[in-house]
Amino acid sequence: MSIKDIRIFGDPVLTKRADEVKEFDKEIRQLVQDLTDTMLDAPGVGLAAPQLGVALRVFTYCVEEDQPGHLINPVLTLSQDEQEGDEGCLSVPGLAFNTKRAFGVVAKGKNMYGEDIVIEGSELLARCIQHETDHLDGILFIDRLDTETRKLAMKAIREAEWFGMDKPTFKKSPHETFGLSL
Ligand code: ZN
Repeated sequence: MSIKDIRIFGDPVLTKRADEVKEFDKEIRQLVQDLTDTMLDAPGVGLAAPQLGVALRVFTYCVEEDQPGHLINPVLTLSQDEQEGDEGCLSVPGLAFNTKRAFGVVAKGKNMYGEDIVIEGSELLARCIQHETDHLDGILFIDRLDTETRKLAMKAIREAEWFGMDKPTFKKSPHETFGLSL
């Protein structure tokens, strides 16, 4: 088990584009393990490498009772139909806002051995895959909110106890995550 600290809103690693993985070596397998352990401990539905301070295109997910999975260098095809619903983020602890997403997604990429894989999902899995892929592009879910909701979100963030903390010390969210933290 290796549980790492999760980077919080304000950390520059969360707003830059992560690099493609080119070598599928022992370090990548360790990164997938760290992401999985930290995600399950949080607990979260998904976790992207930049959230651990690693600027590589890797994320893990674990939706409902399924086994945890991972995807490297994802390329997404989104469905036309959309879904609404609350979404949260382990890097924006304790807050959730209605976020519009595509209802379904087909995600192509690699596993940790460099083999081609495809993940198809809808509803929460599709939301999770879109949220984590956004992290790899330096995009946070609050960037996806409509103008009014985004204003509310930014106000809530500024008032959050962790806002502006140099090094947030907690490992677990002090708040209920409602199973929505990604
Ligand atoms: Zn997130």
